[in-house]
Amino acid sequence: MYTQFQAILARSMIPCQDTPAVKAPYTMHVTCQAPLVAACSGAHVSTTPNDNGTITYKFHQKMPIPSYLIALGCGALERGQIGPRSAVWCEKETMEAAKHEFAETDDFMTAAEQICGMDYLWGSYDLLVLPGSFPYGGMENPSLTFVNSSLITGNRELTDVIAHEITHSWSGNLVTNSSWPDFWLNEGFTMYIERLILRAVAEKKEPGTGDKTRDFAACLGYGELISTVNSLKEQPELTKLIPDMRGIDPDDAFSRIPYEKGCLLLIYLESRVGGISKMIPWLHKYFATFARQSIDTADMIKSFEDHFGKELNIDWDTWLYGTGRGPWNPMEYLDQTWNKNAQSLANKWLQQNGDGASPNDIKWDAALTMVFLDNILNSEQKLSAETLQKLNTTYQLSESKNVEVLWRYLRICLQSEYLEALPDVEKFVSIHGRGVYVKSLYKHLIDLAEAGVLPKDKVKQIYQKNRLFYHSVIRNAFDSQLL
Ligand SMILES: [Zn+2]
Repeated sequence: MYTQFQAILARSMIPCQDTPAVKAPYTMHVTCQAPLVAACSGAHVSTTPNDNGTITYKFHQKMPIPSYLIALGCGALERGQIGPRSAVWCEKETMEAAKHEFAETDDFMTAAEQICGMDYLWGSYDLLVLPGSFPYGGMENPSLTFVNSSLITGNRELTDVIAHEITHSWSGNLVTNSSWPDFWLNEGFTMYIERLILRAVAEKKEPGTGDKTRDFAACLGYGELISTVNSLKEQPELTKLIPDMRGIDPDDAFSRIPYEKGCLLLIYLESRVGGISKMIPWLHKYFATFARQSIDTADMIKSFEDHFGKELNIDWDTWLYGTGRGPWNPMEYLDQTWNKNAQSLANKWLQQNGDGASPNDIKWDAALTMVFLDNILNSEQKLSAETLQKLNTTYQLSESKNVEVLWRYLRICLQSEYLEALPDVEKFVSIHGRGVYVKSLYKHLIDLAEAGVLPKDKVKQIYQKNRLFYHSVIRNAFDSQLL
């Protein structure tokens, strides 16, 4: 079993002031049947066997945290050390693959400390590997990040999520948004710093590749921003960086907007102040000033203007309260070398039905494959059945072990009304319960039903077959339409 309290679910288990504005340390006693093992978002204090065959575990989180970061997992778990400060919790069968997949964890931590200007304050950094039904890729529960088992690809293609969750040890867990409309402070800062970590690690591995790596990851993020804005055409309020969430459950407002539009704002600020080297001293000051506090956007703006001055005339209102993809296109600013490769390959498929394409085109890199597919997706152009068949046979996309690649491919198929891919979609939504995947795929299926391409009963049947596999946040989003 596992808990998931973000955004406002702690109240379902603990009577509490369930708002990120309030922080407190906590102690948890967990009693479970032996030999099950419990793990919690705090340091392990003691393990006591009881006479009736149960075990009582005690945990303590000494840092003040908001209620949404209280977390518990329990199962046939083992703990394996990854590096000097990191470990993984999972079932025995997964241990070897998980240790291999997450081997870079300590390198990410060291890079994050340098960027944030502050030591990691949470003791050991452990990862708990959860089943595919976990509704997120990762959840930054302090001292014990929860990760979705779909991140294990065998070749570390999705470990940017680990860099992301580590970053929350500063942005989010140490400096916290005081209310959910300010969620971008947690996620936008985290995306921005995550990409600076990828830059630092790449530069260390292969000098000269750091900036390109960061900029390419930012291009990928901009593509995700565009596809999210496109998918929210009927809910433009939710494309604002600070949406009006009165009467809305934060789980229903959840999308990639606070992540990618928030990151875009920080890259824009970076472009205005003179680059990354100017941003980092401010980040140091930001974390030193607000550590252990909950803040709002006005606090962040004041910190920025105290450091850089007000004469930059940032149009905060348009950034924070405007709808859509934001008032600035980052493509002029970011290094386009790798992005252009992905774009020209996408054009080959969009304009020439893949003439001249070869399996070697995307053997380069998983991130390049994702940007390539995003370019097709964001064109909103329908590909013919013949082109899609060729796309799949050329790159074996439906066989991809990388869930992000497969998810993009399936969305391209549904967008193109290519129903031959329906069995693959059905299989996907029966294995993966991550909200961002499941929500987008069901939305495509509902659109197809509304367009008369697919019977609505078929969509309902797929959903009802998998409904109990999904977390309640997913069920709450779709029960009214598909039950
Ligand atoms: Zn995050």
